[in-house]
Amino acid sequence: MNNRAKEIAEFLKENDGFSLVAHNGPDGDSIGSILALGLTLKLLGKRVRMYSSDPIPTIFQFIQSVKEIIIDIPTDFNDILIVLDCSDEKRLIVQEIQYEKFAKIINIDHHPFNTNFGHYNFCDSEKIATAELVYLIIKELLEKIPKEIADPLYLGIYTDSGAFGYDNTSPLTHEIASELLRCGTSPVDFKINLEKKSFGYLKFLSFAFQNIKQFNNGTVSYLYISEGDLQAFDLKDYSEIDGLIDYLRNIEGTLVAILAKEEKEGFKFSLRSASNFDVGQLCREYGGGGHKKAAGFSTLEHPEKIISELMDKISKQL
Ligand code: 5GP
Ligand code: MN
Ligand code: MN
Repeated sequence: MNNRAKEIAEFLKENDGFSLVAHNGPDGDSIGSILALGLTLKLLGKRVRMYSSDPIPTIFQFIQSVKEIIIDIPTDFNDILIVLDCSDEKRLIVQEIQYEKFAKIINIDHHPFNTNFGHYNFCDSEKIATAELVYLIIKELLEKIPKEIADPLYLGIYTDSGAFGYDNTSPLTHEIASELLRCGTSPVDFKINLEKKSFGYLKFLSFAFQNIKQFNNGTVSYLYISEGDLQAFDLKDYSEIDGLIDYLRNIEGTLVAILAKEEKEGFKFSLRSASNFDVGQLCREYGGGGHKKAAGFSTLEHPEKIISELMDKISKQL
């Protein structure tokens, strides 16, 4: 069942008491979507709580309202749970959330293969960002979008579209952006704040670049980062590493980029495609997911074993 923006808006108008969450490891789209919808509901006089299971990365703190996000998981089961930017229950923030106890769940997402786990589902994988879907709902709720709501919408769209350049960036993407600028959003603020890097990160990059490996005649670029590597540099927070995969994807001749990162438990793989190769499909084989050109998964297996498996599969198709 895929309810349209209008139906979701009607349900939101008729009800009260909302907890908003998104996936763990917050990104621009998850934070932007939570804030834009949360602040809209507040403006309508609703009781709203916005949650993130992980701290908000420093890079997003130029958006003043991020202070309103509670770093915790929702436990008021009488609330309507609004889940944003999550493709499936497994990615429903942290494992500890007892989402089956919530009487009503609204699922708003743009990932392919969303499992429609909500009682109300508003999912469309053609959209560049969950923030685009949130925008369509907000248009049903507000006459005019105030700047404090336009800014987080722009954050979601700007970051998930790779600054208006990835597949699925559509005329609608630019139409929404144009309206948000009329509502007071300044694109300069986004470019300057989101591109800022700490000195420690630059030093880390010069180290990391030396460890890039290339396979299959340079069509696959791979980098492994250990916890120790990260600790050796004065990084403000690990979210800075998020842009690292883009350097790999942008290497001339690279068709598939792979970044493996040691985590507290196990390893996190991020994949990007610069060709028709579908990394989302590959990551689903490992219990992860994502889009054709950007996807990921987590594993407890050692990266050396995984990368050799991945190379077997990828080289057959390239
Ligand atoms: P990233 O590599 O930036 O962490 O993620 C790229 C894309 O893949 C995002 O759209 C993200 O939602 C998705 N993704 C990354 N890791 C996972 C995962 O473990 N499970 C699922 N379902 N999707 C993931
Ligand atoms: Mn996201
Ligand atoms: Mn997203």
